[in-house]
Amino acid sequence: MMRVYRIQDGASSRYVIEREGTWRALEGDLFGAFTEGAEIPSEGQKVLAPVLPSKIVCVGLNYRDHAIEQGKPLPPEPLLFIKPSTSVIGPGDAIAVPTWAGSIHHEAELAIVIGKRASNVPLAKANDYILGLTCVNDVTARDLQNKDGQYTRSKGFDTFAPVGPCIAVGLEGRDLQVRCYVNGNLRQDSRTRELIFTIPELVTYISQMQTLLPGDIISTGTPSGVGPIVPGDTVTIHVEGIGALTNTVVARQ
Ligand code: MG
Repeated sequence: MMRVYRIQDGASSRYVIEREGTWRALEGDLFGAFTEGAEIPSEGQKVLAPVLPSKIVCVGLNYRDHAIEQGKPLPPEPLLFIKPSTSVIGPGDAIAVPTWAGSIHHEAELAIVIGKRASNVPLAKANDYILGLTCVNDVTARDLQNKDGQYTRSKGFDTFAPVGPCIAVGLEGRDLQVRCYVNGNLRQDSRTRELIFTIPELVTYISQMQTLLPGDIISTGTPSGVGPIVPGDTVTIHVEGIGALTNTVVARQ
């Protein structure tokens, strides 16, 4: 298992590979052929969102406990929506919440990073199209979601998709602990074995509808325990084997 980070490199960025705490330069193409180069110090680096996806395909109500919490019936097939690429931020960046919009919620999620162009992928081949796994905070303006009856506005604000801190490559996603902390207090704590639709099933289902491109993200849904975040809060999404994605909350100007 290795973890791939994208870090600031002057005005540009570069990828590094972490194994057991040691960082090495990734030489080549993350989505093609690459090798491990020279060691790089991990201290003092600015870690960026690991990918810049063309789209984030999100799954609603994919944990039994969250569907019950929201008072909604279990979906017979995946309920999908898209967060725009412009909502992506990286670790340490600020989530800017519109103070006029009512309640804003955190949603801790395990996310899939697509490794190669995927269209009509059979279930048995789904894992071949996955580069690795990361964390997403599916930040949601809950009052607007309920008011609108669909998700484009409530989940599509700039900064409403923190992603990171890395891509865990070779990590088995079937039973990982997914947690959310707000100001150090545990708010969500579940495991991916509670997912209604599994990682391979989601890749297959979505790729039958739309082509997934390298770097695209599928966010697999959130467990129970969603709740409000307000300016001044610090919110951390932690998925076992991947790491911690921490962001502060500020008022949107
Ligand atoms: Mg969600």
